[in-house]
Amino acid sequence: MKNESNAEFKLGKAPLSADQYLDIFRKSSALLEGHFLLTSGKHSAQYMQCAQVLQYPERAAILAEGLASVFRDLEIQTVIGPATGGILVSHEVAKALGVRSLFTERENGIMRLRRGFTLSPGERVLVVEDVITTGGSVREVLSVVREFEAIPVGVGVLVDRTGGTVDFGLPQSSIIQLEIQAYEAQECPLCAQGIPAIKPGSRKL
Ligand code: ZN
Repeated sequence: MKNESNAEFKLGKAPLSADQYLDIFRKSSALLEGHFLLTSGKHSAQYMQCAQVLQYPERAAILAEGLASVFRDLEIQTVIGPATGGILVSHEVAKALGVRSLFTERENGIMRLRRGFTLSPGERVLVVEDVITTGGSVREVLSVVREFEAIPVGVGVLVDRTGGTVDFGLPQSSIIQLEIQAYEAQECPLCAQGIPAIKPGSRKL
């Protein structure tokens, strides 16, 4: 395996602050505040739906430019992300870097490159994703990249919900870090206040 060290490369800085990026999510209704019933059955005071911000191409471009600025000096040749959340992010970041964009998909549960997409040995690849909670999909994409003997040089995500607990062993960066506290219904402080819980997406918010 080729040397994956990026010690000689410096990460850049995103042009906007984390708060400014967070405002873009808020004004796009990608980050909602209230009282939510999550699919896990838990309750929360915040809800993130990244697709809401990516529906506005000019906002997607601003976020992607943030990641591109961080990784610009890593001599990236290709950006790749997992379907579906990573497709638009990969495309926008690749556009900002002036390189090509790929996406992986699951086939029978296995993450792989389809549609004739391929990577070359030694190709320098940036892996991106919209939201990471465990980092599982990103790890699967990293495996795909290494199967082709291409070189993963970094991981860029729009929203890191891991609380900084996930280390991919590569330079990594996120546009925003967001930890959403989830409560069991019987311990939910919002329920205790008698605020009705809303199932996100079930009606207009
Ligand atoms: Zn509640």
